[in-house]
Amino acid sequence: MQKAMNKRQRAKSERQPDRLCPLPFAPCLLPLAPCPLHIALCSLLLALCGCFAPRTERFSLPSGPQERQVRVPRSCGDWRGYLPDPAHPEYLPVRYLRVNFHIMNNRAGNRNFTPAEARPYFRRFLETANAQLDTNLRNWRSPENTAVLPRRYRYVIAPQPGDDGFYFHYDDSLYYFVSQGKNQNNYSRKVIDKYAVGKDSILNIFVMVHHEDSIRSKTYRANGQGIALGTALKIAVIYDPQGSTDSYIGLFNHEVGHILGLSHAWVEDGCPDTDNHPNKCWMWSEQPPCRDLATNNMMDYNAYQIALTPCQIGRIHTALANEKNPVRRLLRPTWCRRNPDQDVVVRDSAVWDGARDLEGNLTVAPGGALRLSCRLSMPAGSSLTVQPGGRLWLDGAHLHNACGLTWKGILVQTAGERRGEVHVLKQPLLENIPAEKSRR
Ligand SMILES: [Zn+2]
Repeated sequence: MQKAMNKRQRAKSERQPDRLCPLPFAPCLLPLAPCPLHIALCSLLLALCGCFAPRTERFSLPSGPQERQVRVPRSCGDWRGYLPDPAHPEYLPVRYLRVNFHIMNNRAGNRNFTPAEARPYFRRFLETANAQLDTNLRNWRSPENTAVLPRRYRYVIAPQPGDDGFYFHYDDSLYYFVSQGKNQNNYSRKVIDKYAVGKDSILNIFVMVHHEDSIRSKTYRANGQGIALGTALKIAVIYDPQGSTDSYIGLFNHEVGHILGLSHAWVEDGCPDTDNHPNKCWMWSEQPPCRDLATNNMMDYNAYQIALTPCQIGRIHTALANEKNPVRRLLRPTWCRRNPDQDVVVRDSAVWDGARDLEGNLTVAPGGALRLSCRLSMPAGSSLTVQPGGRLWLDGAHLHNACGLTWKGILVQTAGERRGEVHVLKQPLLENIPAEKSRR
């Protein structure tokens, strides 16, 4: 298996796609005094190399104009098409969820974090949450040999012009979170409706506290709690600026898991690698029943909330790739324009039967084979190049730029007798490619 190439290797492969102009040039590069024979020899070599340099042509569909109605689009909604490949993580670019924080306080400003306390605390909070997303562990209740895959999503603060993504509200009627009793308000959206900023494109996090009356009650559990409401999140914390953020991270990732479409893992959640169980063990213990029934899944209730199974990760990426799903709008649109550091080269066999939003050029190198059967977004100005000896299968794929910008299309290279191959298995849809100039 190939490891991801580093930048230097990638640049080298772009310069030398076919290795057709090798050693004979060496003398031309030496600092020799130019003489007519030397100049003539080098000119001849240059001309020869030019003859064999790969010729690049843009691929166009063999039969007439594309018509949407003759193309049967695939649903591409199966989570199995969205599993990160540990050998090729770049095939599924990391997703960045934009978030902001609203610190809810009373009018006196003494029930929750002050601005000076909140900023460092919640920046640390987000760093810890990202570190936890970067760390996946085996789900204790998955079948043996279930893979442990990278999650490939993270959080990023999304400031608006003139602010830093932190908002402070002093509102005696909306600063508190009550999860039980007659004043229960955890399901209320009032605070979201009143204070959310950019809620169609940013995950708004409302940091609230338990009401002092609740805290005085012996039956009320004034601990870390949260609730996901659409693309916003309300969490109840204990106001303690010196306290650790750690105890909220599992809760936070769990609630965001709901926003991204995951159900609780202990019930039927559509994932064959999370079994159903009573969800009665907060922690593992040496004694039964929690010796056998404890769980560490992010979508169960437990003290760890660290593990996500392949199916859960696949389901998250299925949602994030779906252009009709509102959670996709929470993503930083990293796929609009090309980032050369994110160019992808396919050197062995790959099947992408889930949608992808690439951020760089895509190259099918000699010996590589790629089958596309879903949506593939290519960044502006980029190309999908099939090098001599590379093979591309289009199986009803939809190739476009998801931001409506233009990209260069599929380029097929030929070098001598070798050429890149593009096979159409089912009519694809190619969009956002400028019309070719008329050929002579
Ligand atoms: Zn939950």
